[in-house]
Amino acid sequence: MSNALLHPSSLSAVQHPLAVYGWDEGWEAEFAPYAAQGLVPGRVVRVDRGQCDVATPDGVVRADTEFVVPRDPMKVVCTGDWVAVDPDDSDPRYVRTLLPRRTAFVRSTSSKRSDGQVLATNIDHVVICVSLAAELDLGRIERFLALAMSASSGEALLHKSALSWESGAQPVVVLTKADLVTDPVTLAHLVQDVENTAPGVPVVAASAHCGDGLDILRALVGNGTSVLLGQSGAGKSTLANALIGEDVMDVRAARDVDGKGRHTTTTRNLLALPGGGVLIDTPGLRGVGLYDAQSGVGQVFAEIEELAERCRFHDCAHESEPGCAVRAAVDGGELPVRRLESYRKLIRENQWIVAKTDARLRAEIRRDWKRKGAEGRAAMQAKQGRWT
Ligand code: GDP
Ligand code: ZN
Repeated sequence: MSNALLHPSSLSAVQHPLAVYGWDEGWEAEFAPYAAQGLVPGRVVRVDRGQCDVATPDGVVRADTEFVVPRDPMKVVCTGDWVAVDPDDSDPRYVRTLLPRRTAFVRSTSSKRSDGQVLATNIDHVVICVSLAAELDLGRIERFLALAMSASSGEALLHKSALSWESGAQPVVVLTKADLVTDPVTLAHLVQDVENTAPGVPVVAASAHCGDGLDILRALVGNGTSVLLGQSGAGKSTLANALIGEDVMDVRAARDVDGKGRHTTTTRNLLALPGGGVLIDTPGLRGVGLYDAQSGVGQVFAEIEELAERCRFHDCAHESEPGCAVRAAVDGGELPVRRLESYRKLIRENQWIVAKTDARLRAEIRRDWKRKGAEGRAAMQAKQGRWT
């Protein structure tokens, strides 16, 4: 009950003890009705079955999530969520409500978004880590960008639609292990190649080993919440350590007080960075693959989708259809053929992955193949008819 008194709301949002976790005036406004009920604000730093660790103005506390357990898997409490918890004299202590999410990183388990699994929420920056130890694969970067784009806004989630480039999490590409590219001219060219692939996306060459590029990265993630994405071995953990400035495991294994006043040693999946900003790193996110980036595909390949609107057939596959504006752009040299190939590959991959779990879409794709086959045969017969 006394929490409202201990942490007067007269404190401005930036002086608030939760400011390091990303508390701002927006959250303060969302939380106001719950503050009036004597509830305590906090950000979820880790989720367990039925329980979670919440960073509150009193430190990290353990709370039960039973009260907000909904039937909708999209509304399950997740690392990154802002919540209202019972005051500290409550036993048991419950999470009472989930503040509306600004963004969410969702792994879709089918083509219907409502079936998704939420991996992290309220993310501002998706840091895509790509190692310079191997040859740059621009196609892979495009796929990760599409994945980053699929981090939807909370509103968009409710309406099951994709969100725009501006309103979602901002992607950043980090070319890691930059120390392995010793020639500065070569390095500049690599950065340029990635910049051309991802117009408007910041690209940073960084080395956790020699420290190059780290201040730029710190500045980019210093405001808001970030997640690191990338293949295993891309250097994500090393980069996280560099940002955190200490060994991650030491920082993460913190002695916290649970809802019953006991000390527990837990691992946090959400950390306030010493240089500002917040980093979320969950096992679920680390294992994220390149599936279901559908909503992001159109944003990464915006120019192709734009051209496609001018194709004669609205379901044009941009292969050999007459009146195809996309092929015309390739032929005219305005669209690199590699771009079109990556786009196709990504669309195909997405369809295949979604189709694995979605019988309806599978049937649709099969119908499409049949129709194309029948059209092809009809066209052949027409041609043969003309020739004989
Ligand atoms: P993760 O799987 O993405 O978390 O990758 P890790 O952080 O575990 O790094 C994979 C390997 O790359 C390790 O052997 C690191 O030592 C190495 N590595 C990470 N960052 C750098 C760097 O800046 N320069 C070099 N040369 N190697 C690095
Ligand atoms: Zn076309």
